[in-house]
Amino acid sequence: MFNDYLKDIKTYEAGKPIELVVREFGIKPQDVVKLASNENPLGCSPKVAEAIAKNAYKASLYPDDSMYELKEALCKRFGIEDKNIIIGAGSDQVLEFISHVKLHKGAKILRSAVTFAMYDIYAKQFGAKIVKTPSYRHIVDEFKEKIESEKPDIVYICTPNNPTGDATPKKDVLSIIEAAPKDTLVVVDCAYMEYVEDEAYKLEPKDFINYENVIYLGTFSKAYGLGGMRVGYGIANENIISVLYKVRPPFNITSLSLLAAVEASKDKAFVQKSVELNRKEMQRYIGFAEENGIEYIESFTNFITYLFDESRNSSKIANSLMRKGVIIRDLASYGLNAVRITIGTEVQNSRLFEVLSQEL
Ligand SMILES: *Cc1c(COP(=O)(O)O)cnc(C)c1O
Repeated sequence: MFNDYLKDIKTYEAGKPIELVVREFGIKPQDVVKLASNENPLGCSPKVAEAIAKNAYKASLYPDDSMYELKEALCKRFGIEDKNIIIGAGSDQVLEFISHVKLHKGAKILRSAVTFAMYDIYAKQFGAKIVKTPSYRHIVDEFKEKIESEKPDIVYICTPNNPTGDATPKKDVLSIIEAAPKDTLVVVDCAYMEYVEDEAYKLEPKDFINYENVIYLGTFSKAYGLGGMRVGYGIANENIISVLYKVRPPFNITSLSLLAAVEASKDKAFVQKSVELNRKEMQRYIGFAEENGIEYIESFTNFITYLFDESRNSSKIANSLMRKGVIIRDLASYGLNAVRITIGTEVQNSRLFEVLSQEL
C-alpha cells in the first residue's frame, strides 16, 4: 500500500527523555542526569526565557513569515545577506528541504561511514541510495574516489562530526568541494561549529556563498541551548536558497521560536560561557578516559565518544547507567562498541564519572 522503499527506514532513535527514566525506574526528575542529546547544560540565555514570558500572547498570532529580525541577526553575525538564508524548524528541516529538491528514487547520497543518522533517513524517504566512505573521518581521497565512481546527488560533510566528535580541516572540506561536479550539492553540516576554536578547522558560512553547489547548515539547538524551540538555518548562494524556498511550508517557524533565536543571538556572552565550561569539563572526560584505559576520539564538540574494547559492552553500560538515572547515548546502532556522552555541568559530570566507575 505504501512506497516500497519506506520499508527499510528505521525511525530516528532520539536520546531517551528524562520522563521515561522517571516513569520506568522511579527516579525523581531532579535526580536524572541527561547527557544524551548534546543539549547545552546551562540551558539557554536568561534573556530568552524573559522574552518568551513577555511575549506569550504572540502564541495566537501567525509568525512573521519573512523572519526579518532573525535573518538580520544572522546577517550581522556572519557578514552575509538575507537572500543567502533559509530558516528551518531545526537544521533538520533544512535537510528535509534539501532532500526534496535533490533526491528521488535511484538518486544517491554520499556520506562518511559514521555520521548523523538523519542523512540516511531522508535519503530513504525518497528511495535514494546511500553510499558510504570506508572511514568515519572525512578523508579527501575516499570522498574523491566515491564521487567519481558513484556520482552522488548530495555529498554530506558533517564537521564537527556527530556522533564521533572529530572535525575535518578546512582545507580538506574545500578539497572535497572541489572534487564534486557542479550538479552535486555539497552539504556542510556545522551544528557544533561554535565549539571549534582551532582556526584550521573553523568554517564560516561566508566561505561558501560564492559556490554554486554548497550549502552551510547551522543550528540554535546546541551551543545556543534552544533545542526545544527548533530553529536552524541553511546559508548558501541565492540560487540554492530560492529553490529551497519552493518546498518550504509557510510559517514553518513559530513566533516564539523566532523571538527566542533573535534574543539568543544577542547574548554572545552566554555562548562564550558555554564554550568555556565545555572546554574545561572536556579535560575531565579526557582525564577519566586515560585513568580508566578507555580509548576516546579527540572531540571538537560538546560531547565525547568513548570507544570500548571487547571486554566491555556499550549497550550494557548505557543501560545500567540509565537505571541509575544517568542517560548517555549508546552507539551500537551505528555499528560501534562506543558511547557518546554530552559534556554536562561540573556536578553532572562528577555524577557520570561516579556511576561509570562503578560500571567499569
Ligand atoms: C543536532 C544536529 C543537527 C540538527 O539539529 P536541529 O535541532 O534539527 O537544528 C544537525 N546536524 C547534526 C550533526 C546535529 O548533531
